[in-house]
Amino acid sequence: MNFDVVIVGAGPVGLSFARALTGISLNIAIIDRQTSASLANPSEDGREIALTHLSKKILTNFGIWQEIDQNEISLIKEAKVINGASPYSLHFNHQDTSENTLGHLIPNRLIRAAAYKVVKESKDIKIITNVGVDSFNIDANRTEVKLSNTEVIHSRLMIAADGRLSTARRTMGIPSEVKDFGKTVIVCKMKHEKPHKNIAYECFHYGRTLAVLPMIGNYSSIVITISSDKADAIMNMDDQAFNQDIQSQFNSRLGSMMIAGDKYSYPLFASHASHFHTDRFALIGDASVGMHPVTAHGFNLGLRGSKTLATVIKEAVSNKDDFTSEEILSKYNQKHQRSTRPLYYGTNLLVDLYNSEKLSAKVIRRLALRFGNNFWPVKKLIMGQLTEIQ
Ligand SMILES: Cc1cc2nc3c(=O)[nH]c(=O)nc-3n(C[C@H](O)[C@H](O)[C@H](O)COP(=O)(O)OP(=O)(O)OC[C@H]3O[C@@H](n4cnc5c(N)ncnc54)[C@H](O)[C@@H]3O)c2cc1C
Repeated sequence: MNFDVVIVGAGPVGLSFARALTGISLNIAIIDRQTSASLANPSEDGREIALTHLSKKILTNFGIWQEIDQNEISLIKEAKVINGASPYSLHFNHQDTSENTLGHLIPNRLIRAAAYKVVKESKDIKIITNVGVDSFNIDANRTEVKLSNTEVIHSRLMIAADGRLSTARRTMGIPSEVKDFGKTVIVCKMKHEKPHKNIAYECFHYGRTLAVLPMIGNYSSIVITISSDKADAIMNMDDQAFNQDIQSQFNSRLGSMMIAGDKYSYPLFASHASHFHTDRFALIGDASVGMHPVTAHGFNLGLRGSKTLATVIKEAVSNKDDFTSEEILSKYNQKHQRSTRPLYYGTNLLVDLYNSEKLSAKVIRRLALRFGNNFWPVKKLIMGQLTEIQ
């Protein structure tokens, strides 16, 4: 099998990137070890993805946004950041922007299903499912991917979209900086007595953080980050104890709260590859940068990177240049590194500050919230990063 581009990983980023490359006569293959049934109808994973305005625009251009049930898209109109037990909050409001919402909250499984549907309908893309990549080899002329079913695929360019622990990245010898926070994220959906008024909360309590994100109706997505040695206790809590715990951590702002469904846990580490390409090879999505979820940037950055890479490839194709050349791929690397590095280090710094139990850190974060609220250029800068309103 011969292709122009082979993408390893049909996660939300791999699929979006495949879609971005259509319409320019490239022959694309996308490989995933999951079955076509599980890609078409992904199971619940507890992740509610906060999407920026730029991501909405990119997904709309790809025709993916239109495939998401619009009744399942919740609006985040305000966001409040709370420090410890203090009632004071750093407050962001959509009324300070030109838009009717700061962002959108969408179940991850719906984004994945919509992306798969669009890709499946594209004549330029062959989806190869239920097989993993056993090994691959890249030389000056082509890439050769050996699949777990013994088939071999050749292409001119290989893209790794195989997630945060990317085996392809490791195989290519691309170093990645990894920051293990020693924490676990626990997510679930809760029903509550009072309406959330489309306000998202990020509460930096001592010892754990709690995010409460507005879903459709009187439901919220609950995101707890906690030291990994304490995570099992929360995962194993019976519903009554868990409801009580979250309600009291949240100061009963939403009245009584009841868990609706299962809890899901994810180990918390961030990663950033030193560079995003080598010969005939590039990294996208979490394989390039895996973000801490607190600033909700992972998929947003993955989409931005996909668009950047697809744009340089399309320009090369339209200029009849070699789209696999070092010059083209390094344009992607430079542009995307400039986007990701400040966000990656900024987010990790914020997480360290808000997780620290040191008195100096507690004082700094109290001041930081007040400074953020009262110094408009800072607030505007943060809001710009979080919403990507253009
Ligand atoms: C709790 C939580 C909350 C989050 N909230 C947000 C948010 O609010 N906003 C946001 O922007 N982001 C958020 N994220 C991040 C977001 O979920 C990720 O950035 C996104 O899923 C990355 O997509 P991806 O396609 O790069 O990788 P993945 O989703 O990891 O997909 C990788 C794919 O590659 C396949 N694969 C791997 N290895 C192989 C192989 N060898 N052969 C074949 N196939 C392979 C896998 O089966 C998988 O389908 C959150 C993450 C978590 C954990």
